[in-house]
Amino acid sequence: LSSAPTLWDLLARRADLTPDRPVLLQDDRSLTFGELRARAERVAAGLHDLGVRPGTVVAWQLPTRIETAVLSFALARLGAVQSPVIPFYRDREVGFALRESKAEFFAVPGTWRDFDHTEMARRLGAKGVFEAYDRLPEGDAGILPPPPADGTTVRWIYWTSGTTSDPKGVLHTDRSLIAGGSCLAHALRLTASDVGSIAFPYAHIGGPDYMVMLLLYGFPAVLFEHFALPAALDGYRRHGVTVAGGSTAFYSMFLAEQRRQPGSPVVPSLRLLAGGGAPKPPEVYHAVVREMGVQLTHGYGMTEVPMITMGSPGDTAEQLATTEGRPPSGMEIRIAEGGEVRLRGEAVCQGYLDPAQTAAAFDEDGFLRTGDLGRVTDSGHLVLTGRLKDVIIRKGENISAKEIEDLLAAHPAVGDVAVIGLPNAERGELVCAVVEQPPGAGPLTLKQVTDHLRAEGLSVHKLPERLEVVDALPRNDTLRKVLKYKLRERYS
Ligand code: ATP
Ligand code: MG
Repeated sequence: LSSAPTLWDLLARRADLTPDRPVLLQDDRSLTFGELRARAERVAAGLHDLGVRPGTVVAWQLPTRIETAVLSFALARLGAVQSPVIPFYRDREVGFALRESKAEFFAVPGTWRDFDHTEMARRLGAKGVFEAYDRLPEGDAGILPPPPADGTTVRWIYWTSGTTSDPKGVLHTDRSLIAGGSCLAHALRLTASDVGSIAFPYAHIGGPDYMVMLLLYGFPAVLFEHFALPAALDGYRRHGVTVAGGSTAFYSMFLAEQRRQPGSPVVPSLRLLAGGGAPKPPEVYHAVVREMGVQLTHGYGMTEVPMITMGSPGDTAEQLATTEGRPPSGMEIRIAEGGEVRLRGEAVCQGYLDPAQTAAAFDEDGFLRTGDLGRVTDSGHLVLTGRLKDVIIRKGENISAKEIEDLLAAHPAVGDVAVIGLPNAERGELVCAVVEQPPGAGPLTLKQVTDHLRAEGLSVHKLPERLEVVDALPRNDTLRKVLKYKLRERYS
């Protein structure tokens, strides 16, 4: 392999090594490594017939399916630039992605979950629309030019979640995605006898990262197009899944299932829950380990750097519960003045579509400003303490939203909570707590909230001055992250 292999190089090598081992399993269908390479080559030829060439920008908005992985590898084979879009996105986000990326082709699932994507694509004036749900364009692989030669060219445009502002188009190379995926596999100590699972949208940056693990280690993963427990449990059991992953909401779903059948494991083959991308309360860690009898490792990542730190089965329970794990070798972490986490290393993106955003994102030493706040423990584990933009400034005092959220989460009448700053003429900002209550909880007043926080030792100047109780916090569809900007809009 060259010094900077491509994703296609990884697939080609794996398909030579273990052509007959399965790689993707879905319902009653499966694909081996050899079949994945062969089908991706035929589809690459079909796309070539449509006019896709090295460097052509192809957006796709497709669910987690075997065909989606095949299409993505076909684009990698051609050296096209692909821009995956989360399937739940609608006109606003999709229009934004198509415009910003200047996509020349757009692959859609047709009507999916009662929504007509083809019609939306027409409405948006998308170019080169084609359906790629069941049937993919195919052609004669003999016509293909040689695969791309190096992994350092920008071939991916991913979209950030848009938690803090409009989504940003993030530029990745095969090299940065391979760096992320290989670190993940290493941290999790996976082996060829594992069986993984992809229950998150394949259009998330975790998709190719996960594929890298499968290609390096040669084990399969079960794909879930419609993910909902308990229906999905059948798939986990049938295929003997050993590693399941997702974010915090995902761990909680498993835990709820386990509580329905205490004593017998929900999925007997399961040994590890692994995920990240959103905060994880330590109680969730302890409950999963105690009640489910499986390991849980959680990590920190972002669209710009898919894998930053990850807990490892070798860490202590305390480290796994309270930190995001350690960075892999090759990832430099710097805690800048003010506590911002900054990163430099192979897994870091090349920048953004907008050159002005790129210029603002890197510091003078080439470290990416993550916008997250954190500290590194003596053992080298990262603890995240909040987001730079989540600092509320009241009468000139900096107040961490996360500190208040963590204290409030322990109150029995609080399920989930988001603390935000609201503009205020007199004080700059005031602190507002927005609370989602657990089922059966009694009414909650601002007085109860502030009494609780004072009893926990929070200083008076940080106490919330406003409380909003809601049925459901606004969340995104990928990792169920709370969208604080929507709350700010609503209550300002
Ligand atoms: P935008 O950049 O558009 O505002 P976003 O930052 O939420 O949106 P993503 O790239 O999907 O978009 O999310 C990355 C962010 O998620 C990180 O910067 C961090 O704030 C948060 N995050 C990721 N992992 C964790 C974790 N383990 N614990 C807490 N927060 C996390
Ligand atoms: Mg971000």
